[in-house]
Formats: sequence, structure tokens, C-alpha cells
Amino acid sequence: MSLFYSDEEIQRLDRQALEALQLFRLKRVISQALKTPFYKERLGSVGINHAEDFKCLKDMEKIPYTTKDDLRDTYPYGLLAAHKDDVVRMHASSGTTGKPTVIYQTQRDLDNWTNLTKRSLIATGCTHKDVFQNMMTYGLFTGGIGLHYGAESLGMFVIPASSGNTLRQFMLMKDFQTTVVHATPSYMLHLYAQMEEMGYKRQDFALKKAMIGAEPHTEEVRKRIETLFGIEAYNSYGLSEMNGPSVAFECEEKSGMHVWEDGYIMEIVDEVSLKPISDGQQGELVLTNLIREATPIIRYRTKDLTSIIPGACSCGRTSRRIQRIMGRTDDMLIINGVNVFPSQIEEVIMKVPEIGNNYRILIRKKGTLDEMIIETEVGPNILTDDTRDLYKLKNRICEELRASITIRPQVEFHEPGRLPVQQGKAIRVIDERGGICCDLE
Ligand code: ADP
Ligand code: ZN
Repeated sequence: MSLFYSDEEIQRLDRQALEALQLFRLKRVISQALKTPFYKERLGSVGINHAEDFKCLKDMEKIPYTTKDDLRDTYPYGLLAAHKDDVVRMHASSGTTGKPTVIYQTQRDLDNWTNLTKRSLIATGCTHKDVFQNMMTYGLFTGGIGLHYGAESLGMFVIPASSGNTLRQFMLMKDFQTTVVHATPSYMLHLYAQMEEMGYKRQDFALKKAMIGAEPHTEEVRKRIETLFGIEAYNSYGLSEMNGPSVAFECEEKSGMHVWEDGYIMEIVDEVSLKPISDGQQGELVLTNLIREATPIIRYRTKDLTSIIPGACSCGRTSRRIQRIMGRTDDMLIINGVNVFPSQIEEVIMKVPEIGNNYRILIRKKGTLDEMIIETEVGPNILTDDTRDLYKLKNRICEELRASITIRPQVEFHEPGRLPVQQGKAIRVIDERGGICCDLE
């Protein structure tokens, strides 16, 4: 059986051919991993001392999971499997949940990653004729640079705008007639909210598509972005431990994100028992990178919750798809004993046309009880400033929230532009109960 395919072919391999390719690549990753003291010990503990000890993909189940703590404990060079002279770049996670974790890449690793980011852009219908304005942060964070190289490799006209400076973003979009942007969904909503204030109209732009990712967002947010700008928005998922963007990406069908399975082995496990679960059921995504030699990472627990979408995508690509990420296991809020995910709240409030594009969730103690306050900006659709009407609207939202999350939070309205906006990932949750701040990613 051949293991050499064009990129077009690789996206349409049948299961058997794909698994043969995965096994071939996994063995290569294992022999790299065995060069690190960490994996020598980990893999040795389950009888894998050479790549040949690994016979079939099922053998994966023997290998213990790798966690963010493992990556932190081996900082800075404990997982480096290539010679330092061969490393051409490093990246780090955003450090959302503590000390950042570091990843190294050789030139070959970067080429492999670029291939996937290019493939992802093609899957959304981008071509070399597009003008690509990259509004993701450039730097250690993988979001900006990652898609930059894919876009260049596709031959797009790339504007490396990076994040922030909304006025300049509008100027670039107008002057260079940007057709595709890459941004966090929260930044897209912020952009729209600022548009008129900064003297622009939708018709000033030639925008057709947005690649949105780096943070959880609901279908309601996607729809809002699409309707407000009159564009198509595609969900982009990735994490620095696996390289960054283009672990999974939506195609033009927009029916879940294709995990590029020639580059990553995906498993979905129950987040408590850590046992595999069947397609369609929600659990924690576990990923193994098959295309990186400098930093091999095997069975990485992402903490991201999703499920495999059963069946094939009508685009013809055979790589399986996952549902949008519901959040991280540690995003779950426990409010007076009730489990709530911020995405459940977003789903309700973003459906309300009178609600603007920014919101946050405050949690604090009132006596012995937890209190949840949803602060939202009101949108231009609000037709009244009559306090009775506003009271009725609040009441309606509170009831809709109660129906969805079973608790009744308070809702506070703010004028547009009043709530804070982040340059990178949105900080949606302010939990004052332990003085800890955590975000929605
Ligand atoms: P950090 O873990 O420090 O935030 P990263 O910058 O690598 O580091 O962020 C990766 C994380 O961002 C993912 O594990 C996931 O939680 C979140 N994320 C990335 N893309 C998406 C997306 N499209 N939908 C939901 N969450 C996403
Ligand atoms: Zn598809």
C-alpha cells in the first residue's frame, strides 16, 4: 500500500488507507519521542522501548495520557526531540490557565503545519485571489503566524495587521479591499459595534469570509457575525501544543470541523473515567501530533469538550468532523450546586436581537449563596429607553436563561462600548468567589 499521496488525495482516503498512514507516521513520532527522557520513561513503562514495539493503532490505548502539567514540568527543553541547532522556531500557549507551555519546530515541522493551514483556507473556498487580513495576534501565540504562512503559501495577498487598533483595521480593510479576515469571534463582534462610530459602512468593504477561532463561541455568535457583515464565517480550532490553528477546520459545508486526521490522531474520552466513548457523545478531545519531529506529543488531553459527528461530510473529505467546542472541562461553573457552561448562557443571550455584541458573566458570593450577574451591552435594535420596557426585556431574558440553565441569574444592561474588550481571547467570566479570574476559553 502506498503511503505517498497528494494533499487532495490525502483528504479523501478511505479509513483503511488513512489508518495505515497514521500508523506509519505514529511510529516515526514514537521513535522521536523515545529520544526524550520524559517519553523514554513513559513509553518504557508500558513496554514500548522501540518504535517496532508498537504494532497497531489499538496499541495507542496502552500509552498514558500527556497533560499540560507534563509539559510544564518538562519546561524548557524536556520534550525537545530534535537537535537544538535544527530548531527554527518556538511557540507558546497563551497561558490562559497558568505558566505557558513551549513547543519547538524544525523547518520540516513548519512546512507540515503550513500545509494544513493552507489546506484549511482552501477548504473554506479561499483562493490566491483573496486579500487576507490577519487580525490575530502575532508573536508567541500561534494564532497569527500560523495562518499567515498558510495564506502566503496559497498565494493570497496577506495583510499582517495583527490584533487591536480597530481604526487601523477598518482603514486597511477599506483601502486594500480585504476579502477574508481572521479574528476571534469576540473581536469580529467588537469590530461591527465600532464600525459606524468610526465613520464606516458595510458597503465600504469587500469582505466575503471570516475565519473565526481561538475561543469558544456558539452558533448564535457565528450567525450574528454572518448577518451583521453579510459574510460567511468558518470555525477554526487549534492549540499550541498541537502546533496551533488548523487542527480542525470547517469546510464550505459548515457542518462541523474536519480534524485533519493525517496530521493528528483524535480520540474522544469520558473526561472523568478517561475511557473512550462512542461517536456522537460528548467528551474530552485527546490529540496526538503525527507531523512534528521537534516536539512529539502523544495522547494530549486538551480539556476541550466536543463530540465526533457521525457520518460523512457532503464535501467528500473523509477526515472525521467534530462539533464546535463547548468549552474546556475547567470552564464549567458551579453555581449553588448547578453546573453551567458559559456557552449555554451565550446561546440564550445572543439570540435576543436587542442584546448587543459584548457581555460578561460575574459570579460572587451573597451571604452563603452564589450570585450570577450577566452584564450585556444593549444593541442598536433596542427601541426603547422606557424603564418598564427594559424591565420586561430583562425579565424575559432571565426566564429564558432559567429555562436553559435551571438557575435565574440577574441581568444588567450597559450602553454599547461600555464593557471591556480584550485584544486576544475574550475574558467572559469574572469569578469573584475565590478572587480568581478565568476566561471563556
Ligand atoms: P491556552 O491553552 O494557553 O489558551 P492556546 O493559545 O494554544 O493556549 O489556546 C488553545 C485553546 O483555545 C484550545 O485548547 C481551546 O480551548 C481554545 N480554542 C481554540 N480554538 C477554538 C475554537 N474554534 N473553538 C473553541 N475553543 C477554541
Ligand atoms: Zn466537509
